[in-house]
Amino acid sequence: MIKKTTKQKITTDILIIGSGIAGLSLALKLAKHFKIILVAKSSITEGSSQYAQGGIAGVLDPFDSVESHIEDTIKAGAGLCKKSAVRIVAQNATQAILKLIKMGVPFSKKIQSEDFHLTKEGGHSHRRIIHASDHTGKSILKTLIDKIHNSANINILTEHMSVDLIYNKNLPIKERECIGGHILDKKTNQVITIIANYTVLATGGASKCYLYTSNPDTSTGDGIAMAWRAGCKITNMEFNQFHPTCLFHPKDRSFLITEALRGEGAVLKLPSGKEFMQDHDLRADLAPRDIVARAIDYEMKKHGIDCVFLDISHKKESFIKHHFPTIYSRCLKNGIDITKEAIPVVPAAHYTCGGIHTNLTGQTNLNRLFAIGETAYTGLHGANRLASNSLAEGLVFAELAYQQIKKLYLPIKKSSIINTKIWDTSFVTQSEEKILVSHDWDELRRVMWDYVGIVRTDNRLRQALKRIKLLREEVREYFYSYNLSSDLLELRNLTQVSEIIVKSAIARKESRGLHYNINHPHTKKNGKTTSLQKTIKKGIKK
Ligand SMILES: Cc1cc2nc3c(=O)[nH]c(=O)nc-3n(C[C@H](O)[C@H](O)[C@H](O)COP(=O)(O)OP(=O)(O)OC[C@H]3O[C@@H](n4cnc5c(N)ncnc54)[C@H](O)[C@@H]3O)c2cc1C
Repeated sequence: MIKKTTKQKITTDILIIGSGIAGLSLALKLAKHFKIILVAKSSITEGSSQYAQGGIAGVLDPFDSVESHIEDTIKAGAGLCKKSAVRIVAQNATQAILKLIKMGVPFSKKIQSEDFHLTKEGGHSHRRIIHASDHTGKSILKTLIDKIHNSANINILTEHMSVDLIYNKNLPIKERECIGGHILDKKTNQVITIIANYTVLATGGASKCYLYTSNPDTSTGDGIAMAWRAGCKITNMEFNQFHPTCLFHPKDRSFLITEALRGEGAVLKLPSGKEFMQDHDLRADLAPRDIVARAIDYEMKKHGIDCVFLDISHKKESFIKHHFPTIYSRCLKNGIDITKEAIPVVPAAHYTCGGIHTNLTGQTNLNRLFAIGETAYTGLHGANRLASNSLAEGLVFAELAYQQIKKLYLPIKKSSIINTKIWDTSFVTQSEEKILVSHDWDELRRVMWDYVGIVRTDNRLRQALKRIKLLREEVREYFYSYNLSSDLLELRNLTQVSEIIVKSAIARKESRGLHYNINHPHTKKNGKTTSLQKTIKKGIKK
């Protein structure tokens, strides 16, 4: 049963913000020892985790090895992976998967066998992806949520959105500590102050910065923006992974069209019907994900078109329906019969490789604040993410953070609780101008898509920064003038995170991994990470 409190200022041992694979896994572990409040800004299931199709990477085949998983991850990361982070994930992913099996996640088995079926995805040199058919994320969440509902120590607040972290603003970052967060109850529009001994951000990625994304609406980079405002270090935000083919449809914008379609012979075409991939790569439609995404982006900009088309209609109807039942029925619902016509597609923002800088236990540089899952930068992905490594990272870092919180656990001072002020709403009024917020949302996501997308130039990045700064000023004004709404809070976070992305992209004077700049097409010999930190009093560097 979901338990709820209505007080304005409440205390708990641990506050976890986010109910994806990272937040749920950690909550279950910590609940053995502590009282937890778990906050989710939408329903408990909504987040990227439930849409994960492919699976989780981990060494399960006797012919595979941890060393090989490490090697593949480092190769994908284009020279920027932190080797210790890669090793810790590769070494612990198997254990994390075995725990899920024990908990009852129904992973797919080989036909007429008790062995688990492992798939192989791009960049992996072995079969090492365990999956539950093509709904891995959903199956894992269901298992975790069933267990969470049986835990007396976990208080779940859905439709509650964190506004900002609570910390001692007047101290330099090294002396600051995070003691919870201000949380907006979306139903009553009241802000609750939750005070906690430890706070964990498990808020997912920031792909909603872009006009087209495979991510759900929750991926607005809230955790990254809140951590930034509190003085945390944010790393490698220029590396956003784009999936080449997402359905282009006014009413159904986040549906991914799997790369397996091209694997089975689907061909990318311009609106005229001309095939174009052979002009970009010898492997044509079977080129790797980032090359295909770049080629589509190039053709769309060259011809001024809104989408390209992915055509598998030359295959037999029975073959298409058998191999791609989900895509067939989803497209048909939108009026597209893929057995007879091509699917309109665009590349879409898919995964945020950078994030809140953490150590190998999920600790940030703000005392008592942890970050895990897609919101964190642990060093695992470097400049590009290897497929199916993100669920593994979420699970492994949930375990590492759990161990560390248990080891460090020390309650905050009583005076901190007493001195914490509740959210002050006396200066704000009800906005009559919702159009301002929705216009800025659209403008921001379009600027990011057009100027900071798959292919970048110095000029586009400079233009983007100018516009985003103006938007940020506008949003700041709304924030301090009007009542809070989730749209306004998300816009505030998106503008903040977009600015960090652009500044990180400007700082990188080379092309590497997912960052491609026409003015700096070469890759430097020694790659470095890009870390930014808010300029605040007491000499903190930008
Ligand atoms: C379509 C798709 C397919 C994918 N397939 C795979 C795959 O096969 N394998 C793989 O490894 N990875 C895959 N990924 C990536 C992977 O799913 C994500 O990286 C991972 O699930 C992120 O988990 P998370 O727990 O960090 O965040 P999420 O699952 O995104 O959860 C974030 C949570 O934070 C909450 N939240 C956010 N902001 C706030 C706030 N301000 N206040 C309160 N709550 C907040 C949300 O409500 C949500 O509960 C895929 C992603 C997508 C979109």
